[in-house]
Amino acid sequence: MEPTKQYDVVVVGSGTCGAAIARDLSARGARVLVLERGGEAPQRESILSVVSIADEVKVGHKLSTLRVLAAGGSSALYFGVLNDPPLDAFMAIGVDLRDDVAAVRLEVPICELPDAAVGEQSQRLRDAARALGHDWRKHEMLIDSAKIEGDRYTYGALWKAKSHLAAAVENGATLIKHAEAKKILIEDGRAVGVAYAEKGRSRGAALETVRAPVVVLAAGELASPKILRDCGDARVGDRGFYCNPGYALYGIVPEMDARDNFVGSMGCVLDEGIELGDANVSKFMYRLMMLGKFKIGRLFKYPQSIGIGVKVKDGFGGGFTEKGGYHKDFDDADMKKLRRGEAEARKILERAGAKSIYNFGISVAGRVGGFIRIGEQVDADLQTKFRGLYVCDGSIIPDAMRGTPTLTLLAFARRLSRHLATTISA
Ligand SMILES: Cc1cc2nc3c(=O)[nH]c(=O)nc-3n(C[C@H](O)[C@H](O)[C@H](O)COP(=O)(O)OP(=O)(O)OC[C@H]3O[C@@H](n4cnc5c(N)ncnc54)[C@H](O)[C@@H]3O)c2cc1C
Repeated sequence: MEPTKQYDVVVVGSGTCGAAIARDLSARGARVLVLERGGEAPQRESILSVVSIADEVKVGHKLSTLRVLAAGGSSALYFGVLNDPPLDAFMAIGVDLRDDVAAVRLEVPICELPDAAVGEQSQRLRDAARALGHDWRKHEMLIDSAKIEGDRYTYGALWKAKSHLAAAVENGATLIKHAEAKKILIEDGRAVGVAYAEKGRSRGAALETVRAPVVVLAAGELASPKILRDCGDARVGDRGFYCNPGYALYGIVPEMDARDNFVGSMGCVLDEGIELGDANVSKFMYRLMMLGKFKIGRLFKYPQSIGIGVKVKDGFGGGFTEKGGYHKDFDDADMKKLRRGEAEARKILERAGAKSIYNFGISVAGRVGGFIRIGEQVDADLQTKFRGLYVCDGSIIPDAMRGTPTLTLLAFARRLSRHLATTISA
């Protein structure tokens, strides 16, 4: 980086929100610097590429969540399931997302998975769930159906934030990869820049610093709360957090010969706070999962394997550990929902003809969130108590929205970019 270059905005993190903000602001002529902790995102899935970007973060006893540390963030490995935001709940906290959601819908590829691309596992699951009376429906997906090759799972058909990041760089934004923001520089109650460490820096060497009147934290649902708390806002995470725990259950249908499948294309709401969904991940992901659980006997049984996911809405609890990690326990109400979901999931799998059903144990089935609340740690414009310091990423999604957040995050990024554009030009 040219040390003397002036920036209007420093964006920390180049995932869904960071990439979108960098693109929108640079298109309006703002001088934008993006600091990204990870390196290049992979062009395609391979064991090496996934291992090099996936980061498992412990959030409880035998409980961890996955995030991606790479340009483009977690969208490099996400499933592309689209849920709409609860617009009324956002209105109630002073955030009108209607126009932004409508605009984002027009610029990213969205479709329901075409019937031809619904794999045999998903079809069996759908038929079994419906036979048991569940309202098992297709979800919208962030997929470009024209890019689906051979009616089967195609990594390149999923929308990814790296396309927005590429547009930002084309617009003139500067991207520094392998640059981890360590500290936000605060003077007289306002953000004035960021101190960061570049990969390969020798131990004890001073951090690099960059100054700008606006800093946007977009480091993701786990990293941004910590950075904000380290700025001196002790209210971050003071009520704990939620993590949408769930189960993934897999069985074997001996007569099935399924091909590579898009995961998450269908599901249903079982009861208030319990969701069931298609967990038939791609062959590549399936093998990684089985390897991770030492299920060697199932490793090459993808064509016969059928999976269902359970996700429940847990209450707030836990918080940061003394060592700077995260810890969450579940109460009786959470466990009751998990048991209810598991029992119904087993019934559906059995109805679909599955034998040898295996439950992978409790995992984080959705996002971790609730550390930062709109109206408390950030205002409706997403500004923190430090002037010029904003947060826009998964950490600000409220409790009212437990679904998949990408559309909502892109709408928030668009809204914040518009707000910042007026601040910067003023
Ligand atoms: C396996 C999986 C499946 C998913 N499936 C879906 C789905 O189907 N639908 C959906 O809508 N969502 C899904 N998600 C969630 C979705 O991917 C995330 O909610 C979304 O990407 C969050 O965007 P973000 O901008 O908050 O953060 P991210 O996309 O996570 O980006 C944060 C970026 O910040 C960088 N960073 C972190 N710390 C620092 C630092 N200190 N300095 C500089 N950079 C830093 C990271 O490297 C990363 O690039 C899934 C996630 C996973 C992991």
